[in-house]
Amino acid sequence: MISPAPTPVAQPGRATAATNMLTVGIDVGGTKTSCVVTDADDRLLMHEVEPTHADQLAEQLAALAQRAVGRIAADASGTIAAVGVAVPGRVETNSGRIALAVNLGGRDLDLGPELERALGIPCFVEHDARAAAIWVSAQDNSAADLAYLAIGTGVSTGIVLNGQVLRGANGLAGEVGHVTADPGGALCACGLRGCLEVGAAGPHIARMARAAVASGRPTTLPAEPTTADVFRAAAAGDALATELAQDVAERLARAIRALVLTLGVNHIVIGGGVAAAGEALLGPVLAAIDAERAASPLVDAAFREATVELLSPQAEAGARGAAHIARERVSIQQQKGVATR
Ligand SMILES: [Zn+2]
Repeated sequence: MISPAPTPVAQPGRATAATNMLTVGIDVGGTKTSCVVTDADDRLLMHEVEPTHADQLAEQLAALAQRAVGRIAADASGTIAAVGVAVPGRVETNSGRIALAVNLGGRDLDLGPELERALGIPCFVEHDARAAAIWVSAQDNSAADLAYLAIGTGVSTGIVLNGQVLRGANGLAGEVGHVTADPGGALCACGLRGCLEVGAAGPHIARMARAAVASGRPTTLPAEPTTADVFRAAAAGDALATELAQDVAERLARAIRALVLTLGVNHIVIGGGVAAAGEALLGPVLAAIDAERAASPLVDAAFREATVELLSPQAEAGARGAAHIARERVSIQQQKGVATR
């Protein structure tokens, strides 16, 4: 049985980490992988993005981290003490094992141990949305109850309650992307139909837009629209794109309502690649939430203290979170005077 690793979400890193302790943070997305290096004060020293190679994941991540170590060594700004990796799926934080990442091929992988063998420094693995949630929460002392809703190639949530990250007894807490949004909807990579993911994740927004354009309705969208095209056209007033954006926003609003009602969180942060749409996404989501609040005093009360915000993917919350977690875990190990991993 694997017990969850303690992952503080406050800011002890500033007080406990050695001043020159640098960590690498890598966020593995379904399409792209981001790598950052941050220092003991969480300042960003390096940032690199490349396409994800899911079939050679450990090798790719080792090469990325190695490159970061080489660059930092070259400019002598400090020593890299550890690597943190944020990945989707079921992540065993103690063993570094990952499984069930349906958008990365779904195979099991001893990612943490493989990276440690390749790099010779401690490597810590965390669920991507949880890594982002931990980092976002650490930026704001008032955000002790927070859900970070990541919308990219997939949809999932990182949940922080009372300042502690929630993993769940099954390790799958927050996988709202596989809660049904539309019974009878499209087939999801998880095996079910009509999951929130197939109604709101980036590739599926593009798929729905493609189908809508192919149906012959008048639109300014191209024949092969991207997700960005949809939100851009919606912002410019295209009726078909507005309808698509609104459908996505209503599905997300229902998921946000479920998070707020079941968890009692008062901070919702929408991140991931689709958040690049900015106001064209947030506006309809807030409007859909307002419509639910207007119809239900209970929902209205649940949202009275809640904030719903968008975090630009350029913030690199997942990679920053992975670097933050690596820093925290190394600090804890140093304090204990043990190096179990
Ligand atoms: Zn699913």
